[in-house]
Amino acid sequence: MGAVLNNIPDIAKEELTKLLKGNKNFIAGKPTAKNMCLKTLQSLALYQEPYACVLSCSDSRVVPEIIFDCGIGELFVVRVAGIAVGPNVKESIEYAVKKLHVPLLILLGHDDCGVMKYANEQYPNMPEHFQSILKSVYPVIDGIGKFDCNNEFARKHTLWVEQYLLNNSTIIKEAVENDKIYIAKCHFNHNTGEVTIIN
Ligand SMILES: [Zn+2]
Repeated sequence: MGAVLNNIPDIAKEELTKLLKGNKNFIAGKPTAKNMCLKTLQSLALYQEPYACVLSCSDSRVVPEIIFDCGIGELFVVRVAGIAVGPNVKESIEYAVKKLHVPLLILLGHDDCGVMKYANEQYPNMPEHFQSILKSVYPVIDGIGKFDCNNEFARKHTLWVEQYLLNNSTIIKEAVENDKIYIAKCHFNHNTGEVTIIN
């Protein structure tokens, strides 16, 4: 993992290292997060200083605070089915970048994602429901073709989400160019509990 963390701004590297260590605590069944009580919340009642933004699927099995061993006030989490980006999701992340100055954005795809399954089944049709979600996933199939493995589909989609954000958000693009934020593309494995960085 060490080599993967090269070429990352120091502040983001520190936070990413901390979160990956937290993930190891989760895997080992030895969580250490302490900031989970009312006292913590009260100390943060009037402000927040999260050190990372996480874009995660809404999937009930993917809970960023638990899998990264974090407590209250640490992560600014944006959750949407299939990490399907659109204007509201983009602006939520922009808020974390511009107003909260988080140095790290984690895009967290995962195994067995229902959105990838559904998109693979429906493509290229556009059914009556879930259109905005499908529209943010279909471009991956447009470019690569249908996937035999939905987990590989999810990984490729996570990479696509980064490009979407860079192409559609001046705030995020400039923050990346100025080393104000690092975008870590990650994937969560349900069998091992491990979060791995993908490229
Ligand atoms: Zn999902």
